[in-house]
Amino acid sequence: MNGDATILHADLDSFFASVEQRDDPSLRGRPVLVGGGVVVAASYEAKAYGVRTPMGIVEAKSLCPGAIVASPRFEAYSAASKAVFELFRDTTPLVDPISIDEAFLEVGGLARLVGSPESIGARLRARVRDEVGLPITVGIARTKFLAKIASAHAKPDGLLVVPVDGEQAFLHPLPVERMWGVGAKTGAKLRARGIERIGELAAVPPHALSAYVGRAAAYHLHALANGQDPRPVETGRRRRSVGAQRALGRRPKSMSDIDAALAGLVDRVARRMRKAEREGRTVTLRLRFDDFTRATRSHTLPRPTARTERLLLVARSLLDVAAPMIAERGCTLVGVAVSGFDADTGVQLELPFGEPDTATLDLALDDVRERYGSSAVLRGSLVRRGEGLAMPTLPD
Ligand SMILES: [Mg+2]
Repeated sequence: MNGDATILHADLDSFFASVEQRDDPSLRGRPVLVGGGVVVAASYEAKAYGVRTPMGIVEAKSLCPGAIVASPRFEAYSAASKAVFELFRDTTPLVDPISIDEAFLEVGGLARLVGSPESIGARLRARVRDEVGLPITVGIARTKFLAKIASAHAKPDGLLVVPVDGEQAFLHPLPVERMWGVGAKTGAKLRARGIERIGELAAVPPHALSAYVGRAAAYHLHALANGQDPRPVETGRRRRSVGAQRALGRRPKSMSDIDAALAGLVDRVARRMRKAEREGRTVTLRLRFDDFTRATRSHTLPRPTARTERLLLVARSLLDVAAPMIAERGCTLVGVAVSGFDADTGVQLELPFGEPDTATLDLALDDVRERYGSSAVLRGSLVRRGEGLAMPTLPD
């Protein structure tokens, strides 16, 4: 555990929109929306009009009529992300990726060699700007939680250090919605009890708080609001999910064929989890279609489990949801993964706040891929196979 402010949270600003502005100079300084039906990224010029992600393009355009809509270019974003992560890893070997455009970096061991965390953060920002052409914000603090709040606070294109003796002065005046896991709903509940600032939250004993947010969340929020967050920066090598997949070949197959394959995979995954004495909450179904596009669907259970029938029930309901896509595009691979294990479950730490570009963005991205993928491939695959749009149903 380190006692100094040595954790960097580095987060690209309006990532996709910034890539569009970088690659097309005519977009610079102008409101840019990236997306199809849904806005997956908006430039700060567009956010100034109240545009948020994800939001329907129509609604966004009504808020900001002058906005320019760019179609997503995922290859460009993934290349930019790769380049930025190379700079992260060139800064320190201890990089803990959170999403395509943000990571925690531990720079504590580097102090004597390359300077203070603040100077390391400033140099990283300059390099990302010079070598990749993108703005990035860096928050620096003693804990991950504070570093992430610091970067949200310093956006866009900023750097903010929360010194160890200034943590409460920084954190406590902020609105409760800045807390990880406190969305609009929980925020409203807390506000109804007169808890508007993080400092007020910090002062409520967890047993009192648990009446509004549930017991586990209460203890977690109380700890975070009081600056306690023991999670170290991890390089992601620790296994965070258990999964299995099976290629199904290109022959035509029925939903019950796919269901049978899925049941076998769930059984295998559940057995491995039980052997490792791990229980998980999130079940993710992965599918690959005849045209090589992919889709994932997940569901998170209220409690972790390693029971085959519980996991299978969730996996089947996800398959059910995906049935129309399979009917349109065929299915060549099915996979299932379970994540959200006890030790790293915490309380909704995966929820984004402020800049909605972690979990929400990933979801929105899946949706957009879906949209573009399906409209592009629907006709071709139907013509090729001479099939109608009849939808197979799952056996009950
Ligand atoms: Mg970002």
